[in-house]
Amino acid sequence: MLGVTKLLCETIKTEQGAGHKRHGHGPAPAGLPSNGSIGGCKQGASARLLQFAEDKRPVVVWNITKRCNLKCIHCYSDSLNKDYAGELRTEEAKAVIDDLAAFGAPVIIFSGGDPLLREDIFEIAKYAGSKGIRCALSTNGVLIDKKTAQAIKEANFAYVGVSIDGIGEFNDRFRGMIGAYNMALEGIRSCRDIGVRTGLRFTLNKRTLPQLPAIFDLAEREDIPRIYISHLVYSGRGRKISKDDLSHEETRQTLDFIFKKAMEFDDKGMEKDVLTGNNDADGIYLYMKVKKENPDKAERVYKLLKMRGGNSSGVAIGCIDNLGNVHADQFWSHYSFGNVKQRPFSEIWTDKKDPIMRGLKNKKESVMGRCSQCAFLDICGGNYRVRAEAIYGNVWAEDPACYLTDEEIGVKNQCAVKIAK
Ligand code: SF4
Repeated sequence: MLGVTKLLCETIKTEQGAGHKRHGHGPAPAGLPSNGSIGGCKQGASARLLQFAEDKRPVVVWNITKRCNLKCIHCYSDSLNKDYAGELRTEEAKAVIDDLAAFGAPVIIFSGGDPLLREDIFEIAKYAGSKGIRCALSTNGVLIDKKTAQAIKEANFAYVGVSIDGIGEFNDRFRGMIGAYNMALEGIRSCRDIGVRTGLRFTLNKRTLPQLPAIFDLAEREDIPRIYISHLVYSGRGRKISKDDLSHEETRQTLDFIFKKAMEFDDKGMEKDVLTGNNDADGIYLYMKVKKENPDKAERVYKLLKMRGGNSSGVAIGCIDNLGNVHADQFWSHYSFGNVKQRPFSEIWTDKKDPIMRGLKNKKESVMGRCSQCAFLDICGGNYRVRAEAIYGNVWAEDPACYLTDEEIGVKNQCAVKIAK
């Protein structure tokens, strides 16, 4: 994910990112949100921010159950409201946590399906916390009443991200349940009112795009401190709607709007953290915008982006699915490096015998097409391999959602780098 506010409003500085150690388990909050303050900035920021850390132990997205009570059109895990045989039992999950803690994984993001459908979710999260791992929750929010919010707080979740794809009935139609919007909003309020940090999660596509301004208004009106805007990744049911992804021009205009809103919040002195996710070209686009107006600031932004390193699937982000299979990221569920029931995560993650694991850990050598010639490969990391595979049938092809022009990225001879379908 890309911290738009942090970069545009300079609420993080290079020395802070460089000083951050992922397996230090220090007192700062979960690397996801940030608190504290920096002199000279209107907004507060943590001195420790995982996305800019140099030490790349993986943040683990753990799809702890595949079961979900909603039927979202774009669901990357293709979840249904049914039992999935073979999901990890509580004791198996705790053994995984023991290994993750010893390995130095700094954060687990519990996702699904909806993780709140697991009765033992709070027991598992508390156990992870006791081992020094910070936990975040990614949920559709409809199950969060006041009692559940209290349980979330007591389980020490550092952050709760609630997915909302529009306002009212639009969200309900898109996410497949009448009343889902009101329930999710009540869930956010219940968390917010007892001091649990929350954020909105919103996925861009042609259908949801007109809702985006209202999402920013909602965050302002409801005092929600974090807005995470995800690009569409073509996996699960998201693959079926890849044709609904934004055009490159629409994406650029949307990023312009997101940048404007982040600056407006900062100008008003509102502590809002705006982030984008799942398209690492965003960092370069932001850098180029800043460079036109303020070359000195652009240099600082560039340094931070370099420390961040772009897409880090298979390196600084990993995924364990409901059955214990280990994936490079949460969107890559059709390819597994191994299963935690048979081998510890730490062993699977460091085994470079797998050609895809090897390629992900050495992307300069493995990516093809425009990415291989891109002047910004260092700070983009080649973007999403899953999208490349979905469109070109080749995991190392260029990411089709890269909306930067050849001129912008310094690719001179496009014919020479085209990837055959
Ligand atoms: S060409 Fe590839 S590496 Fe370069 S910005 Fe686009 S997606 Fe990233």
